[in-house]
Amino acid sequence: MKCSKCGGEMVEGKVYIGAGATTFFMGGGISSGSLTFKAAAWREQVVQETSEVFPGHYCDSCGAVTIETNRPGLSATDA
Ligand SMILES: [Zn+2]
Repeated sequence: MKCSKCGGEMVEGKVYIGAGATTFFMGGGISSGSLTFKAAAWREQVVQETSEVFPGHYCDSCGAVTIETNRPGLSATDA
């Protein structure tokens, strides 16, 4: 997949927060947090919870990351 920003070839991988899903199985301290997206005219929208692992792509040329969040239509929730 091509980077939408610089046109470079992107590397496919997984995107997760903190230590990832393995943390839960270790029974250790679970870091909490979420990835939030805020457009200028929007309220904050959570696009990824701590426990979620999404497929994504990383651009090694410019550092852009794309995440397939399974949360389409966030703009509709901001009426
Ligand atoms: Zn790029």
